[in-house]
Amino acid sequence: MNTADSERMGSALEKLGLEQTLRPKDADVIVLNSCVVRQNAEDRVVGMLTSLKPWREASPQRTLALMGCMVGPKTDQLHKQFPFVDVFMQPQNFTPLIDQLGNRFGIDTDGCIGPHVPSNPNVTAHVPIIHGCDKFCSFCIIPHRRGREVSRPIDELVHESKMLSNRGVREITLLGQNVDSYGHDLQGAPDLSDLLYAIHEQVPSLSRIRFLTSHPNDMSDRILNAVSALPRVMENLNLPFQAGSDEILEKMRRGYTNIEYRRLIDRVRSIIPGVAVVTDLIVGFPSETEDQFIQTLEMVKDLRFDKVHSAAYSPRPNTLANRKMEDDVTSADKKNRLLRIEALQKQILSEMNAEYKGTHQEVLIDGSKDGIWRGRTRTDKLVYFDAPHHKLGDLVNVIITKTTPWSLKGEYVESNSKTTVLSG
Ligand code: SF4
Repeated sequence: MNTADSERMGSALEKLGLEQTLRPKDADVIVLNSCVVRQNAEDRVVGMLTSLKPWREASPQRTLALMGCMVGPKTDQLHKQFPFVDVFMQPQNFTPLIDQLGNRFGIDTDGCIGPHVPSNPNVTAHVPIIHGCDKFCSFCIIPHRRGREVSRPIDELVHESKMLSNRGVREITLLGQNVDSYGHDLQGAPDLSDLLYAIHEQVPSLSRIRFLTSHPNDMSDRILNAVSALPRVMENLNLPFQAGSDEILEKMRRGYTNIEYRRLIDRVRSIIPGVAVVTDLIVGFPSETEDQFIQTLEMVKDLRFDKVHSAAYSPRPNTLANRKMEDDVTSADKKNRLLRIEALQKQILSEMNAEYKGTHQEVLIDGSKDGIWRGRTRTDKLVYFDAPHHKLGDLVNVIITKTTPWSLKGEYVESNSKTTVLSG
């Protein structure tokens, strides 16, 4: 989400006539987009802001702005802590900086505000479809910083997808903290499946459509059926389970149990053959015992995810967990649990990826490394291969020849062979 916000902020600044520079010391304006989802992310922002202080103080003509989740509704404390920062902006609220720069350069900023579609996007791009989150999981700072859910209208999103496609984008990822609850606040209450159908039908020039992140409780059969029915919507879902123990899930206020999550994954895999499932989990939540952690480990072992984003619990200000629960799992235990999850997942991925060997995969070329192409399968596996007569954004057929837990290697094939669907 922050990458998408940064691209949009950059696009608004370009409309004001500014140009990107690669070295901070050459800049007139620096915008730091902050993430505070965990303490170490916040520490990095503070370190970077502090290191920019001499740059800002070297010239009154410079502007330093801080945006993103570090900026809450009240900024008094931030003003005191960082008096050298000129502008503070909450997530997606670009207006304060645009107004300030407009005044400084004598530019009328009308038209610079709105959905800022990047002018020179890559072949893959992000499209935020819903801002904020209404779930208030007990550990999460996001609803406190990004506010309640606000969906963007379908017409606006179709228009934006067309603009991106006209600018060379071949794959879009529809973004939200909880994309599955898209639309409930719009007139007529459309849902994510309506949006997928609208973009699929009205923007045929897009090769691929993805979406993330989903909340298990809002993943409906309508959405799953749309993914299954629409050939340009990728079979790739992100469904965080967060913890395997029902007691911990309740303390997290996730609203489902271990068995309900397992049933959901069974349903997902029965409706969408070959689907890749990605998950997020937290280890060391307050009061998590070794036995409760083992239930998380078992979930990973049994459900065999295509990717696991694991993190150690980190108390965040104003959250229920921080106010009411003691952060009582030691750092050593958190680290040990993370290592065990990572080792297990590495083993699982090495087995799952090995099943790709010898299969045909449709790959979208999205970059290159050391002179060979890099791309992604429909299931978002990273593939390296050589295809001399092709270019960025092409969809090509690749036969997989080598696999590791983290990526695949393959050879380009000219045939029209269909992608092999793995049983998942
Ligand atoms: S659903 Fe996700 S973004 Fe929303 S509160 Fe829970 S963890 Fe945070």
